[in-house]
Amino acid sequence: MTCIICKLEILDFEQYGLTGNEDVFSQWINPQRIRIEYLRYFQKQELSIQRFNSPNVGILNIANFSFMNSVLQILLNFPTIQQILSKVHAEMEKGDFNVKSIKKIILRNICCISDALKSKSVKLLNPTELIKSIAQSESKLLGYGQKDAYEAFKYLINFLHEEFRYTNSVSYWKNIIPFLNQEAIPHDWLLLQLYQFNRGDRSQASKFRDYSFIQNVFSGELQSTLQCLNCNRLTLVNENYSAISLEIPQINEQNVISKFFNKLTKDRQDAVTLQNCLDLFYEPIQEINFLCLCGSRNGRRTYKFSKFSNILAIHIQRFKNKHQKDQTYVSFPVEQTNFSNLLNMQGDLNYQLFGLIVHYSNVGGDHFESIVRQPNNTFISIRDDQINPVTLKYVKESEALMLFYQKVDSPTNYKTIHNVLTQYELIQTGEIVLKDDELSFLPNFWFEQFLTLSNPQMIITSHLLCFHNQLKPDYWDFRQSYENVSSQEQMNTSFVCDQSIILQQNNNSSSYFQLQLQSVQLPTAICQFLVEKYGGGPLIQKTIQTCTVCIEQAQNMSKRRKLERSLIQKYENCQSDRQFIINLDWILMWQRYLYNSKSQLQKNFIFGNPPPGEINNLPLLDGNHQLLQDKQIEKDYSLISEQLWTVLVSIYGGGTLYQKCIVGPIIQVSSSSIEQGNSKLKAFDLDLEDNIKVKEIRIILNQCFKMYNICENIDCI
Ligand SMILES: [Zn+2]
Ligand SMILES: [Zn+2]
Ligand SMILES: [Zn+2]
Ligand SMILES: [Zn+2]
Repeated sequence: MTCIICKLEILDFEQYGLTGNEDVFSQWINPQRIRIEYLRYFQKQELSIQRFNSPNVGILNIANFSFMNSVLQILLNFPTIQQILSKVHAEMEKGDFNVKSIKKIILRNICCISDALKSKSVKLLNPTELIKSIAQSESKLLGYGQKDAYEAFKYLINFLHEEFRYTNSVSYWKNIIPFLNQEAIPHDWLLLQLYQFNRGDRSQASKFRDYSFIQNVFSGELQSTLQCLNCNRLTLVNENYSAISLEIPQINEQNVISKFFNKLTKDRQDAVTLQNCLDLFYEPIQEINFLCLCGSRNGRRTYKFSKFSNILAIHIQRFKNKHQKDQTYVSFPVEQTNFSNLLNMQGDLNYQLFGLIVHYSNVGGDHFESIVRQPNNTFISIRDDQINPVTLKYVKESEALMLFYQKVDSPTNYKTIHNVLTQYELIQTGEIVLKDDELSFLPNFWFEQFLTLSNPQMIITSHLLCFHNQLKPDYWDFRQSYENVSSQEQMNTSFVCDQSIILQQNNNSSSYFQLQLQSVQLPTAICQFLVEKYGGGPLIQKTIQTCTVCIEQAQNMSKRRKLERSLIQKYENCQSDRQFIINLDWILMWQRYLYNSKSQLQKNFIFGNPPPGEINNLPLLDGNHQLLQDKQIEKDYSLISEQLWTVLVSIYGGGTLYQKCIVGPIIQVSSSSIEQGNSKLKAFDLDLEDNIKVKEIRIILNQCFKMYNICENIDCI
């Protein structure tokens, strides 16, 4: 069976159904019906696969912003990024959101530009808003001195990665089909805990892995081998890359004349090639920050590619010498090429040039040009507000600063896309009606990757599910921060992480609404096929419910915060003769928990920040339980009243052995024995009403920990 529009061979569902050759396809729903609908459909309209965009919106060069413009034109004209950011833009522009955090303002400005480039609603864009917002958070990038497109590239992809970053345990990636043999999904407190407070701890960090759509586009893996030249010990480390930065090999003396000649005629035969630059990259380099177990400091490092990215971004180092730009012409492939020689590895490695960036020094500053491939395989040059079609010869002779190669899809992938997309659109338009229990959701972000990338990566859905394998009440891909929501809306959504959790416990809930909005619906059999093909899961069936247990637990935590705050309020202005030392790290974590400081919460999260574990003053004290000399007040510790201390210790425990009190000007150190400590220090007692509150506070947290199988002292992850 051949597609009427693009003449591509596609699967004949009916035939697969009858012969049963391939089990997977025979399970696809109602083959005959789909076939008829399918043919009917193609007489009406074309499928909306958009793999290339035709860029024709310029961006004004304001405040020497050209270096950033050139990168925006490459990134935001790449279909995966453009499609996803446009969807985010549509969500952000709904209603009168009052965006306060600078990161969200930058994101919104980037999304606005992406949307304008896609919709072509204007001929020329003014980037002033984006410049202003970036200047507020990243003044160094826009300051004086060399402005390099490569720096802008790194900034933008890091920014987008952070904004759309999720975290998952490493074991998730190891399961080939996780939904068959799945570990319980951990409570988000464990991830929050890790990322906010223990980021430096490498042993913990290695248990988790970040991911984002931007990483799926650019990230590949290098294997670095470090060899000790004394004992030959080898150390292998895998490093992620999002771009490869290449030196230009120095040309020998005898070639000086031909180099000069190259510059004039750009004779490609004698020029430095991209292969030459990569060969230099594979050469061993001396390692200086190295100490082998044998004591030798003499090491040698080599790099080789081990995993390939969907877009291979290459930076050619033309500004190694600050005062002089290296203008050596480097030739590079433009049309589809097998990169197995270039990348020094076997496999299906067909790439074609998607775009490139060129630097020009002019009077009045640096200018950058982006050249982008168009749908009809011609190229267009964008120099800020100037847009012109260019010839293949022009592209080939460009003095590239950055090159962007896109991995070319295999024809079988394209067939799968075609079949899936057909079903998707038939369901969209209501031409096929399936029952709820025959449908499943796939995340929108993944679906865009599937349509536009050679390797769409795993279908990650675990961030949408809770510990109980139900829909998380508060989590979805477009991470609007809750501050974006008007007060009216706050009453009806789960954006609020503490004040009052009002969630409808049915499928009208906002989380289910968001899931529908941010997912595509496909027959469950197809989703199952895709999860088996690409990995990931678990499947999210259309009949999924928002988890009522999680809502109840979150409401309990909200109640707990209220009780705790009422106790604190009662005692916070108390004066006491004796003041108590308390670890400032602990206090900060406690405050973040109790008041849900917004800056700490990147996500919409009804549980809010995790509570601290036991009070631990140990880091402040020496072996004799004396305050260490170098510890400073309000930097390492705080002083609190006896009343407050008693409240905190009775809620959180700990601290008893290491407390230290100050009476007037004389510093007294408590004894290290508990009994002595108690008789000496427990002069203040909570009243009956307080004790009931404390008990309830403790019970709520214990229940919650039990419910999610969290170890009692949350610090111990
Ligand atoms: Zn077609
Ligand atoms: Zn906008
Ligand atoms: Zn050694
Ligand atoms: Zn749950």
